[in-house]
Amino acid sequence: MSKEKKSALKEKKGVSVSETTDKSSIKSIKEKRSNKIAPSQLIASILNGNITALGKAITLIESKNRKHLKDANNVIMGCLPYANNSIRIGITGVPGVGKSTFIEAFGKHLTAQGKRVAVLAIDPTSTISKGSILGDKTRMESLAKDDNVFIRPSASGDSLGGVARKTRESIILCEAAGFDVIIIETVGVGQSEITVHSMVDFFLLLKLAGAGDELQGIKRGIIEMADAIAINKADGGNLKSAKLAKEEFSMALHLYPERPSHWQPKVTLCSAINSEGIDEIWKLVLDYMEATTKNGYFEVKRNKQSEYWLIQTIEEQLKFDFFNAPKIKKELEKQMKLIENKKTTPFAAADYLLNLKL
Ligand code: GDP
Repeated sequence: MSKEKKSALKEKKGVSVSETTDKSSIKSIKEKRSNKIAPSQLIASILNGNITALGKAITLIESKNRKHLKDANNVIMGCLPYANNSIRIGITGVPGVGKSTFIEAFGKHLTAQGKRVAVLAIDPTSTISKGSILGDKTRMESLAKDDNVFIRPSASGDSLGGVARKTRESIILCEAAGFDVIIIETVGVGQSEITVHSMVDFFLLLKLAGAGDELQGIKRGIIEMADAIAINKADGGNLKSAKLAKEEFSMALHLYPERPSHWQPKVTLCSAINSEGIDEIWKLVLDYMEATTKNGYFEVKRNKQSEYWLIQTIEEQLKFDFFNAPKIKKELEKQMKLIENKKTTPFAAADYLLNLKL
């Protein structure tokens, strides 16, 4: 049938050609907007190192829509056999210490060696303020332009556990996409360091010279977790005090008990802004990898981390299911009133709620 005849027929039926064209283009726009790509297609693109597909898959993982859960899990499972082959580095330090400047210099150093680098973040404040330490687009601007770099801001979530889980799953996808080094950045304010430590191989603490640990909000526990401490801003008038701080810290670290990794944590100087001391830190990471691979600790640690994440995920899910059950929501309120009126104790109330049939 000729074009003219087709349009004449449609016009007879009361449908104009432009109307049908509009409808089909709207449909395709809607499909595009809904981002609906089959998990198998996403997996294939990720394995090809496609960064756009990687970004889409992470968005799927981060989705709060329950309907996306199955697809997200399928993508993760499809990528899992190709994961596990990167060096995972955690970086922490108080705001202003120079984390993003450091990551930019460090990342460039690695890409210059042909490595592909992914930067993910865990920002505990994002669960409260919905902000994000990597949200500001101007951070790591020049690194972000590199084709061999993938930068993803912290997921926002209702709990640090939820955010952390998404980051951990994102690591799997980044590894499947062929990233050699995965940097997980966090801000040094407490619980988030423990979370990051539980998903990385090497943990780097950035510090400033001349400010006490209390002032920098650094807890003893964080120092105990660090595999290396880099004193940043070791330049200009700061250099002398940075050198002094390095000596003091190196001595102090010797007083800590030996670690299961048998790795003696190192203290080093760097100036992220001048890209100085960066190579030394990368060499430390490689030394650590070699030593812990040889003595078996690397494998043991990764297995322990997987066990930890199994338990964490179960705990999170149980908590979620429990508190979101309509019956619990209703009864919890009643029990709280009873506690307020001194008619029951928190323990008796907990016992009652935990024994309810859901
Ligand atoms: P973050 O909050 O830890 O990510 O810190 P930024 O990377 O944003 O750095 C905070 C400020 O310190 C910025 O003004 C940087 O230019 C500056 N800065 C970062 N690294 C260095 C450094 O090595 N030397 C000096 N002198 N300044 C630095």
